[in-house]
Amino acid sequence: MKKGIVWFRNNLRLHDNEALSQAIAQCDEIIPVFVFDTRQFRKDVWGHSKTGPFRGRFLFETVKALKNALQEKGSDLIIQTGKTEEVLQKLVTQYEAQHIFAPKAYTSEEIEIEEAVHRFSEIHFYHTTTMVHPADLPFYVAYLPDIFTQFRKAVEKQAPIRKEIPEPDQISSPEIVPTSLPKEQFFLAKPLPKDHRAAIDFKGGEAEGLKRLQHYVWETESIATYKKTRNGLIGADYSSKFSAWLANGALSARRIYWEIKKFEKEITKNQSTYWLIFELLWRDYFQFIAMKHGNRIFHSSGLKTQKKITSQNEEIFEKWKNGKTGDDFVDANMIEIQQTGFMSNRGRQNVASFLVHDLGIDWRMGASYFESQLIDYDPCSNYGNWLYVSGIGNDPRPGRKFNTKLQANKYDQDGTYREMWLEKPVGA
Ligand SMILES: Cc1cc2nc3c(=O)[nH]c(=O)nc-3n(C[C@H](O)[C@H](O)[C@H](O)COP(=O)(O)OP(=O)(O)OC[C@H]3O[C@@H](n4cnc5c(N)ncnc54)[C@H](O)[C@@H]3O)c2cc1C
Repeated sequence: MKKGIVWFRNNLRLHDNEALSQAIAQCDEIIPVFVFDTRQFRKDVWGHSKTGPFRGRFLFETVKALKNALQEKGSDLIIQTGKTEEVLQKLVTQYEAQHIFAPKAYTSEEIEIEEAVHRFSEIHFYHTTTMVHPADLPFYVAYLPDIFTQFRKAVEKQAPIRKEIPEPDQISSPEIVPTSLPKEQFFLAKPLPKDHRAAIDFKGGEAEGLKRLQHYVWETESIATYKKTRNGLIGADYSSKFSAWLANGALSARRIYWEIKKFEKEITKNQSTYWLIFELLWRDYFQFIAMKHGNRIFHSSGLKTQKKITSQNEEIFEKWKNGKTGDDFVDANMIEIQQTGFMSNRGRQNVASFLVHDLGIDWRMGASYFESQLIDYDPCSNYGNWLYVSGIGNDPRPGRKFNTKLQANKYDQDGTYREMWLEKPVGA
């Protein structure tokens, strides 16, 4: 009897999940496992909890939903807390599993765990994160262009998008010893209050991600105006909000792609429908950049060789974090992320630029705060974007310095956004 463990990581879904479908195809019985790795919940060198409460709760909801979905298919999800490699080693012995099936990760902490697991078990890896499969790129990752436009043009011309992998009907598993989710205190020191100003009430889980896709594409047809609205700051539908489900893999990028293609065929095809796919290519690009450059995306000099002189002044940094810099556009955005775990793309660009170029603070401190705070944190997208804004990543220019006053006047002309978060009239 061939038995395989499916090690769920950032592929927390049943649809379009090659690690899961291959395990089912190659084994008689599968044992699905998720580990809340304690290292992901400790403090980092800058003093931020690596997984803050917003993403912690979202992950908790996602894992709970996955367990229910697997049970409906006749299987279950083993949920454990600890060091992933230690947990998996015990389970391999306990369930006499010969193989482990898992999504491939591209960043160092995750790769270290893969190597530790590989010491005691065979692992089969699958690329379940990106829209374009890395094997379909028109170049080796080592030759990935360091300019996005070059990458995009080549990929748009030459890389096919694979069809989705269907969800399994039934899953055969051995008798699985019941396990349950960790207590909420594991990731929540105190209950998280709901903020009525939040752009959207993010709820974790595959069904919720698919519901959001349905809402954005079919129910509201917001996809058809995305290019016009995507720089917005307020509300649920100025942008897709897919990022949180994409980040932990509750929603597949390929599912979004094919849904948009269907919409283009049945309803309308325009610049907006193209632009969302364009943004998903940015997401892919940062995954491939991490694959190509490895640990360098976390280094202070990024992808460049020359280090920039920066400050690590705690007092200034705390003011930025707490929305007390005195720049009302930056402050409003920083309060939004502090209260809700989300911030628009326009906001992220501005606050990152302000921290790095106006305040002169080490970009890694900002990236670390985002890692802790963002509900949609993804190592490749977060660090890739911080490098980009700081001028040490994939932007040929020496940095993206945003004039936050001009940006505020353009994107928050009447001050509604700032008033909403600062709770005082703009200019007061
Ligand atoms: C400093 C900084 C840090 C960021 N950190 C993250 C992060 O940790 N996780 C994350 O998913 N995004 C990150 N982004 C990118 C972007 O801001 C978010 O993906 C976007 O705001 C999420 O909202 P949405 O899903 O409504 O986006 P939409 O505008 O609806 O875009 C659709 C999807 O395209 C992808 N996308 C859009 N813009 C980008 C981009 N610039 N880079 C990579 N992918 C993109 C996302 O997957 C997004 O869900 C960061 C941007 C900056 C400037």
